[in-house]
Amino acid sequence: MEGARGQGLWVAVRTRPATAWEAKQPCLLQLDTRSLKYLGPECFSNVFSYDAIFEQQATQSQVFGSIQGIVLSVLQGFNASICAYGQTGSGKTHSLFGDIGSASDRGIVPRAMAAVCTGVSASTEDCKFSLTMSIVEIYCEKIRDLLNLGNENLQVQQDKVRGVSLANAYEASISSEDQLMSIMQHGLSNRAVAATAMNTGSSRSHCIVMLMLRKQFPDGRSQHSKLCLVDLAGSERSDKSITAGQTLDEGIQINKSLSALGNVVNALTDNRATHVPYRDSKLTRVLQDSLGGNAKTALIICCSPCMSNAGETLSSLRFGARAK
Ligand code: ADP
Ligand code: MG
Repeated sequence: MEGARGQGLWVAVRTRPATAWEAKQPCLLQLDTRSLKYLGPECFSNVFSYDAIFEQQATQSQVFGSIQGIVLSVLQGFNASICAYGQTGSGKTHSLFGDIGSASDRGIVPRAMAAVCTGVSASTEDCKFSLTMSIVEIYCEKIRDLLNLGNENLQVQQDKVRGVSLANAYEASISSEDQLMSIMQHGLSNRAVAATAMNTGSSRSHCIVMLMLRKQFPDGRSQHSKLCLVDLAGSERSDKSITAGQTLDEGIQINKSLSALGNVVNALTDNRATHVPYRDSKLTRVLQDSLGGNAKTALIICCSPCMSNAGETLSSLRFGARAK
């Protein structure tokens, strides 16, 4: 993982708790803190290694603890991204958002926001901080503003000062942690509204929470950094999960952005790759300067514990292993 361009990439696997029925047919066996064995069929080499493995009983606080350093690097001016990958029902939304109102069960996003707010207010640096947030959803290669419903086709732009950003996206200015949480909840409820209106369910879209930090130094210089927290669309093969009202084309578009993400991550960790194909999807364009380069990235591969999902679990394990 110490590739020249991929050194900021950290990959973990998290298995969600099994129901009583699922526990009778386990699909994964943890071998040690960093490797696990896949017990299902269709796999020749069945031991996989990552930077961390979170077993079924791992708490939200343990998961956040291991990526806290990546989150806090934003205060030092780095860009960072945290992405949850896996089939629908594998625990992505739980890992990222969890039970937002509960101190113990809230997920990575509320914890990261609280940590950045605390870091800003505790900073002893002689500079002025300003914090803003956008929340968007990517569905079928269209970027929708979840803080301003109706703003449906945001364009990705790039400039020298801010790096990659979204033209005309609503950016809420943040002055307190409470305000941050209520704006986030508003964005998430809009995600549900939009998904219901389109009869899709949120599992087919990527949801990105972006926290932008601007640091102004006394000499007038300013530094921009951002944290992107991404609840990726379900990674299952879309021909299995097309629902009423969806077309095959939609399924293809959804898979396209996930495979584009895989190709980008692959190129970043392959020292021989000369081209990183960021431009192949909206998702990778939005994340362009939060993946690779000096950016720090955590990829959390979420898995079902049960043999009935073995095929999808194997493909998720491979996606994560390929990123290393
Ligand atoms: P996804 O977003 O990948 O479709 P969810 O996060 O919605 O999956 O998880 C599916 C179900 O499993 C939800 O009911 C969720 O609350 C539960 N779940 C997932 N991970 C955990 C966990 N680590 N602990 C407890 N419940 C979990
Ligand atoms: Mg989800």
